[in-house]
Amino acid sequence: MANNLVIRALKANSKSFDLSSKKMTQVPKSVARLTHVLILYLNNNYLTTLPVELQTLQSLTELNLGNNSLEEIPSVLRYLNSLKKLYLFGNHITRLSPEVLEGLHHLTLLNLNHNRITVLPPEIKSLSNIETLSLLDNQLEELPVEIGFLKKMVEINLTNNKLARLPKQIYSLSQLDRLYLARNNLSELPEGVIGLMKLRVLDVAGNRLSMFPVDFQFLTLKELLCEGNPFVKSELMESVQAVEVLSLKELSARRILAEDKSRFGVVHKALSYHPGLSLLLADWGSCSLCLQPFLTTWLECVRFVNLRKDMKMRSSQTIPVRVQLCSYKCFNKSGHSYYGVASV
Ligand SMILES: [Zn+2]
Repeated sequence: MANNLVIRALKANSKSFDLSSKKMTQVPKSVARLTHVLILYLNNNYLTTLPVELQTLQSLTELNLGNNSLEEIPSVLRYLNSLKKLYLFGNHITRLSPEVLEGLHHLTLLNLNHNRITVLPPEIKSLSNIETLSLLDNQLEELPVEIGFLKKMVEINLTNNKLARLPKQIYSLSQLDRLYLARNNLSELPEGVIGLMKLRVLDVAGNRLSMFPVDFQFLTLKELLCEGNPFVKSELMESVQAVEVLSLKELSARRILAEDKSRFGVVHKALSYHPGLSLLLADWGSCSLCLQPFLTTWLECVRFVNLRKDMKMRSSQTIPVRVQLCSYKCFNKSGHSYYGVASV
């Protein structure tokens, strides 16, 4: 029956060809003759692989292989140089082969929803033209730092995985408009969120977040979904009015970081000869009140941000946003609205 459909499609010279829901266990090799077809539907069958002959489909821009029985991305796809949109949802894929990923650099959309993927290999960076990556309902526990190379990304859907943390490189995706992270195990979002200046929609519902990262209120979000997280409450907490004792390392680090602010200073020049030390100092933060730098010791505080008033969103919800202060001296200054966090 499928062969008859191929003959008919050849005669009609149609741009799309539909072999969905045909109970096929394999694709007839005659499909390789449809070299003019742009869109091919093979979804809702029982396919476990694709014949190598399909590499003749050099005009194909969109391929739907959803709801089949594939255990990996068929290797023939890396030869389809025009392929832009690839749907592989609802298969049994557990791993992404680095070799196949390397051949998919022309993809703009990759849908891998409802599979069993546990790891994204570093070669994910080969998808250099990807704009939409959807991995909803998989088994991912972490993302590789190479995700930061996908500079054209507009939307990532990681809903319903097992992510316990995110690499801060996700903030290198400066074109990102929509980020879906609902129903994971995230206990915090990394610092540096201000890198996502184009982000409009963020969904972090159903995680373990106690607060949002520093400067979160400067994002220009249109929509924030965050219910089902154990956020710290907007209640005054008793602060310990002690004076902290800083380690020698912290004291030295603060001194060096402060001196390093002067681009023409001796310290700044000296640091360029000590890459190890520069690396050690790379993760510094600065006090929200006095703006002085710190490295490993700071006072964890929150401010409560009203989505409507502070972020111009429609919701009037209040969310806790992380604030870091250098010392109790700053915390005890009057005139700020930061609350101490008892345990973080
Ligand atoms: Zn301070």
